[in-house]
Amino acid sequence: MSRSLAIAIIGCGTAGLAAALLLERAGHTVTLVERFGEPQPLGSGLILQPSGLAVLEALGLAAPLIATGSRIDRLFGLNAVTGSVVLDVRYAALKRERFGVGIHRAALFEALFAAVQKQPVAIETGVEIGDIDAGADGKVSLVAASGRRIGPFDLVVDASGTRSALLGHAIRPATRVPLSYGALWTNVPLAGTAFDRHALEQRYRRASVMVGVLPIGRQGSEPEPQAALFWSLKTDALDAWRNAGLAAWKAEVERVWPATAPLLAHITDPEQLTFASYRHQTLPQPYGRRVAFIGDAAHSTSPQLGQGANMALLDAYALAVALDQAGDLDAALRCYAQLRRWHVRLYQAASRMFTPFYQSDSAMLPLVRDRVVPPLARLPGIDRMLALLVSGLIGDPLRQLGLKEPAIAAESDQPTFAGKRAER
Ligand SMILES: Cc1cc2nc3c(=O)[nH]c(=O)nc-3n(C[C@H](O)[C@H](O)[C@H](O)COP(=O)(O)OP(=O)(O)OC[C@H]3O[C@@H](n4cnc5c(N)ncnc54)[C@H](O)[C@@H]3O)c2cc1C
Repeated sequence: MSRSLAIAIIGCGTAGLAAALLLERAGHTVTLVERFGEPQPLGSGLILQPSGLAVLEALGLAAPLIATGSRIDRLFGLNAVTGSVVLDVRYAALKRERFGVGIHRAALFEALFAAVQKQPVAIETGVEIGDIDAGADGKVSLVAASGRRIGPFDLVVDASGTRSALLGHAIRPATRVPLSYGALWTNVPLAGTAFDRHALEQRYRRASVMVGVLPIGRQGSEPEPQAALFWSLKTDALDAWRNAGLAAWKAEVERVWPATAPLLAHITDPEQLTFASYRHQTLPQPYGRRVAFIGDAAHSTSPQLGQGANMALLDAYALAVALDQAGDLDAALRCYAQLRRWHVRLYQAASRMFTPFYQSDSAMLPLVRDRVVPPLARLPGIDRMLALLVSGLIGDPLRQLGLKEPAIAAESDQPTFAGKRAER
């Protein structure tokens, strides 16, 4: 589109911040609205995959985040009872040098937020959006929970996460499957432990017990590299977990994986642990009249495949590309949906299929996982498929968006979308 739009973005998460950067750089006037008084990261750590790193590269943020985080070369899991390998995915199975980056959420948030603050983006904090409203002029306003109206805007971008209040404005309703398992998360120093700094490691008992350690590098002035420690827990077991007390839980984690003892020693208060619940929710068409849904508002799932933040980055980029290429707003929204359709469908389906093998009450699925997956994963071609899946690259989302991966192997020779404003 040749004209500059007035765009409101709801939510200062990964999706909203990336969209604010990209849309402002494309020449639009951006207002970012966040419910918290002080924008802040929620949660522990995550893996930036080659897919998400390509968007961060276009934003000029990949190199500092790779330097801050922990390079992840392998996802590795053992059956805690038998010791057999039940998960072993190596990025090295891919022809080109690729890796994930374990990152503290605060480090990702701070990099994106600092970049937004350097651009002329209006930021309104402490405003919870409850609805949107179309005016007689066809434009759209935000309606805060307090009743205050903000706007009008040409377009609202809903990046408010999986519990978005605006999903009723999508042209088709979301399919929603609640997930019974969530997880407790915390960050702990890795110093003095023998954990592999370059692997996400997990231990399982059936599919109902899982403990994981993800190196996430350094954060701010922290001298020591950290790890995200997580423990699978059913949502309806949270109260029982609280009542049993911290010591009982630590003893149980240690029984499953004795090597976690020095990590657990850093946890002295249950308040250090945050419980995250998950839901599997997908909008068939991530847009409505003058509204686009990106990130978890458009599609959320369990983090087993580690794609959510990466998909949020791809969504933001796809929306910016669609607005740049289409002739009018309606066409741009359809184009955005089309650009993301197959990648989102594929990963939502894969996540839905794989999650019960790692988080469920099933007795059968973990047996299949333990007996069938390891020999299968060693077959030529399958190891590469699994690495591609984990990298977020199945369906070739980068080529479709004209994105390049960080130049660790090859220099980028084409201008990316994020550079267009500078060229104009
Ligand atoms: C425990 C856990 C581990 C994960 N691990 C990984 C991983 O390894 N790799 C990966 O890629 N993904 C992972 N994910 C998924 C990833 O965190 C999400 O997909 C990603 O954060 C989605 O970003 P978002 O910006 O769409 O939404 P969010 O991060 O949820 O941000 C939404 C923002 O909107 C604000 N907001 C909400 N409602 C309103 C409102 N009404 N008005 C104004 N503001 C509002 C919120 O305060 C927040 O700032 C994990 C998720 C969890 C829970």
